[in-house]
Amino acid sequence: MGGLHGHEVTPLCPRACPWALTLGVVMFTHSLWAVVLLTLLGGGWATAGDSIDAGLRQRMVDDIASDVQRTTARLSTPGLDTRVLQVMRTVPRHEFVPSQVQAEAYAHRPLPIGYGQTIAQPSLVAVMTILLDVDHDSRVLEVGTGSGYQAAILAALVQHVYSIEIIPELADTARERLQRLGYTNATTRAGDGYYGWEEHAPFDAIIVTAAASHIPPPLLRQLKPGGRMVIPVGSAFLTQYLMLVHKDHAGQVTTRQVLPVAFVPLTGTR
Ligand code: SAM
Repeated sequence: MGGLHGHEVTPLCPRACPWALTLGVVMFTHSLWAVVLLTLLGGGWATAGDSIDAGLRQRMVDDIASDVQRTTARLSTPGLDTRVLQVMRTVPRHEFVPSQVQAEAYAHRPLPIGYGQTIAQPSLVAVMTILLDVDHDSRVLEVGTGSGYQAAILAALVQHVYSIEIIPELADTARERLQRLGYTNATTRAGDGYYGWEEHAPFDAIIVTAAASHIPPPLLRQLKPGGRMVIPVGSAFLTQYLMLVHKDHAGQVTTRQVLPVAFVPLTGTR
């Protein structure tokens, strides 16, 4: 608000002199206009910023849509889930990345979120969410909260999301962020997600956002009959595949390789 200081005229003559008075009045009036103008412009900038973000999100969703169309055969789902795309059109991804990479928040690639971790590229977030096939009654477990972005997308679609993050600093930041942005149906905690979250099990769907060497048995146990799990499996240096795990109503488990992917590893001591 530099304009606010403009009317502080240093007295050029100690006694009141008419020209100084006139100058003071003119500058004061101009400053008032400057304040009004800045306020209007400030509002204008905020509105412009919002619509730029909305425009960037729309572009991001268009990119996702063409990516998902290209991989529909591999997904073997009816294809685009418009609910997922609608949610991705509204969740402010730029709020979930560090300020240094905020300008690239809607780009078609993963971004660093600190502590050597990343937020997945938007189309992968969309594909994993579509594969989970959740609805507004679902209770979902996420392993690997990271920035909280995937949890926010899910929170907008389901009844409740439980998310676990192994790096305490990331868990704290994500919890504060999700609260600040109003995702009241997302509960997070720091811990090793390999063991799931027994207290809230069983889950309709489980999503793991770090690559595991195998499907963790505790997660399989915590998946409801009829439930789905999406998990990247493989080592950090070899090919990883996004796997879709299905537990039928008799408790029988089937798995399917969906896509080759590259995720950070699922860590922890076992
Ligand atoms: N879903 C996140 C998002 O939307 O920002 C991105 C997740 S990032 C690709 C993977 C995350 O999994 C990292 O934050 C990492 O610390 C976490 N992670 C790795 N091993 C874990 C484990 N055993 N339990 C819980 N989180 C783990």
